[in-house]
Amino acid sequence: MAQINETVLEIDLKAIKHNFDFFRSRISDTTKFLAVVKAFGYGSDAVEVAKYLEELKADYFAVAYVSEGIALREAGIKTPILVLHAQKASLEKLIEYELEPSLYSPYILKAFLEVVQDRELKDYPVHIKFNTGLNRLGFWENDVDYIIDKIKDIPQLKVSSVFSHLAASEDVNEKDFSQTQISNFKKIAAEFTEKIGYRPMMHQLNTSGIINYPEAQFDMVRCGIGLYGFGNDPEIDPLLKPVASLKTVISQIHMIEPGESVGYNRAYKAEHYAKTATLPVGHADGIGRQYGNKKGYVSINGHRAPIIGNVCMDMLMVDITGIDCREGDEVVVFGNEPTAEEFAATAATISYELLTAVSQRVKRSFLR
Ligand SMILES: *Cc1c(COP(=O)(O)O)cnc(C)c1O
Repeated sequence: MAQINETVLEIDLKAIKHNFDFFRSRISDTTKFLAVVKAFGYGSDAVEVAKYLEELKADYFAVAYVSEGIALREAGIKTPILVLHAQKASLEKLIEYELEPSLYSPYILKAFLEVVQDRELKDYPVHIKFNTGLNRLGFWENDVDYIIDKIKDIPQLKVSSVFSHLAASEDVNEKDFSQTQISNFKKIAAEFTEKIGYRPMMHQLNTSGIINYPEAQFDMVRCGIGLYGFGNDPEIDPLLKPVASLKTVISQIHMIEPGESVGYNRAYKAEHYAKTATLPVGHADGIGRQYGNKKGYVSINGHRAPIIGNVCMDMLMVDITGIDCREGDEVVVFGNEPTAEEFAATAATISYELLTAVSQRVKRSFLR
């Protein structure tokens, strides 16, 4: 592996293939695979990841917002793109770039109908989202008649899919709840299909859903975090490969005497002689202040170095007492050890948040 000489987020595309193959192998050959590449591909790089997944024959992509879909289209992505959280203000653009909206409320449905009414469109693909318990986005079960009534005479659009989202697919203690969501979704989808008179696709599973409820894979699954190497499951995680590794270098080493402090607000005070390293990565790069003060740790030449004091905007300091290392040496903030999941857990958060927080200032480098 190339020598690192600045902070980089290394993206291992081979790991994406590994994870893609893993989740593909857990679903039926006829189930479509939607790859979720929202939020810059969970922080990695949506365009590079989507290009690669298009080669691997992902059937669909999903992003949260229209601007994310536009970036994919401008990079030449031809695969259908579902926009999970389309906003009224960007519906014209959505159509211009042939993105497919999730219609999740009367408000957004009416807005979309207004945008399409004077256009010469035929069977423009839309996706109807039903709320089955997450209570975030989605029509209610008893909105079926309302939706059908609104769209049945509109030749401009056609419902490609009906879908829903599980609230606690990773939590075995919520199995009953998840199974109720699944059976309610089946009922809603059956009623919708009967009343609309053709059969849209059905989909409900995210990564943990694929792992825990494969019986509910229906026509398609929506896999996000799993593609990036995390399954929210201690038995599955070792079978996946982390895609993103945040690496940096030691900028400077200091010898600290007892009683001296390190960093802003003197948050770390040395009780003994200590050796510290300053790293060129801070909260503006995505390593938040919650990792400071010995919560998080990084890996230097295979040893754990705890983050001491407050994380600064552009830097943080770690305790390297007893670690054989030099200025310029490589540091792993997260990657294989600690993993993003492990690092995130030190500050009581999850891999999703840590990965998507890595800011655009950090250079991405790709391993192919
Ligand atoms: C983000 C998202 C997903 C992907 O979830 P993962 O847990 O990352 O697999 C799937 N469906 C919807 C609606 C989402 O918002």
